[in-house]
Parts: sequence; structure tokens; C-alpha cells
Amino acid sequence: MRLILLGPPGAGKGTQAEVIQQAFSIPKLSTGDMLRAEVASGSGLGKKLQEVMSSGQLVSDEIMIELIRSRLGQNDCAKGYILDGFPRTHAQAEALDVMLDALGAPLDVVIELKVDDAALVARIAGRYSCTNCGAGYHDAFKQPAKLGVCDQCGSTEFSRRADDSAETVSKRLLAYHAQTAPLLPYYHQHGLLKTLDGMAPIGVVTDEILKTLQAALVAA
Ligand code: ADP
Ligand code: AMP
Repeated sequence: MRLILLGPPGAGKGTQAEVIQQAFSIPKLSTGDMLRAEVASGSGLGKKLQEVMSSGQLVSDEIMIELIRSRLGQNDCAKGYILDGFPRTHAQAEALDVMLDALGAPLDVVIELKVDDAALVARIAGRYSCTNCGAGYHDAFKQPAKLGVCDQCGSTEFSRRADDSAETVSKRLLAYHAQTAPLLPYYHQHGLLKTLDGMAPIGVVTDEILKTLQAALVAA
């Protein structure tokens, strides 16, 4: 199963990718996570990336395409993967098509999570994650079963993303509408797009995604 989760920041892509990766035993390829790992490494490249990310803009297509090219070549992607946060521009989508054509392994489905901008702001404001394993949570919508203890790994340390500030969020939403939303008609034309109501509660969205993926498997 090769799929893209497409949607604005805060739509629930990472939250749903965690469930899909368990259900289908395929890796979640989050370009945001990969870039944050490079920033955390303290490398020269990481410092440059941090500047771009904290301004709410997109990292260059050249860097992103190479990042994904090398990641897709790793063994754990042989059975499939979930792309979360890539592609975000036409150039990235076209480069991905060329890569997948060369591999003879086309996409199965592109799932759009549709969420209103006002809801996104509230989601991003309350987002936090486990510092140890990265599991995602929300102050109002998804607390761990035992408050202050990660459900996945038991860690008691949590962190919030530097670019989740109110100021940066509005710039990230502008970037989404200007550069990424135009990919929706692109994937619709390719017969791959399934649009789901991302405003529904987390569990309902998960059920809809799993149904959509089962249908894509049957059609393949
Ligand atoms: P994305 O990866 O698309 O940026 P996340 O998966 O990190 O978004 O979700 C953003 C925040 O909203 C997280 O704190 C998450 O727990 C919460 N969230 C995700 N899906 C929903 C939903 N359907 N309803 C309410 N909150 C949600
Ligand atoms: P995310 O974790 O997906 O919200 O991404 C966080 C930030 O990383 C974005 O605001 C961008 O600055 C950068 N980023 C992640 N993925 C991409 C991509 N595919 N293209 C360009 N920039 C990206």
C-alpha cells in the first residue's frame, strides 16, 4: 500500500499515519519529522532548515526531492509507505511520479483530510508530542490515558513544536493554500484522490481511512 496523506498543517495526517503504519505494517515517511531530526543534529544544514521552518515557509524542492528519493530506496519501503507532508508543491509531485514510474510502483491512493482553517488553529495550538517516541497528543482532543504519561512508551517528557506558534501557523496555512492545495486537482485528474471529512473525531476519521484503504486494496 503506497499512499499520500494530504491536508493542511494540523489536519491530522501524523495522527492517522501512526494508526495506518500499525494496521498495514508500513513506515510513515514524515518529511517534517526528517527535517526536525536534521535540525536537532545541530548540523550546518539543520541550522539553515530551522530558519526556513520557523518562518513558516517551505524548504526548497531540491532538498525535499533528494530526501524522499533516498528514503524511498530503503528496504522498509518495499511493501509500501505513508507519505505525510510530501509532496507539497507541483515540482515535488511531478518528481515523485517520475521516481515511482522508474520503480514501477505507482501510488495506490491519495487521501485528503479536509479541515476548516479555524479548527486547524485550535488543533495546532493544543498539539504536543512525546519527546522520547514522538507519539502525538492534544490538550483537548487526545490526552494520554494516564495524564502526563505517554501511552506508547511510558515516558513523562513531552514537547511542543517551535513552529506551532500562532504567528507561524498563519504563514504555514498561507503556504498550504498557495502551494499545496493545487495538488488536489492534480491527484483528482490522476484518479487517485479520496477526500474525507477531517473535522470528524479522530476515531471516526480513522475508520473512514481504513475503509478507503481496504477499497483501494480490492481495486488494485
Ligand atoms: P498534521 O500531522 O496534519 O499536522 P496532527 O496529526 O499532528 O496534524 O494533528 C494536529 C493536532 O490535532 C494533534 O494535537 C492531534 O492530536 C489533533 N487532532 C488530529 N486529528 C484530530 C481530529 N480529527 N479531531 C480533533 N483533533 C485532532
Ligand atoms: P510538517 O511537520 O509537515 O508540518 O512540516 C514542518 C515544516 O517542515 C513545514 O512548515 C516546512 O517548512 C517543512 N517541510 C516539511 N515537508 C516539506 C515539504 N515536502 N516541502 C517543503 N517543506 C517541507
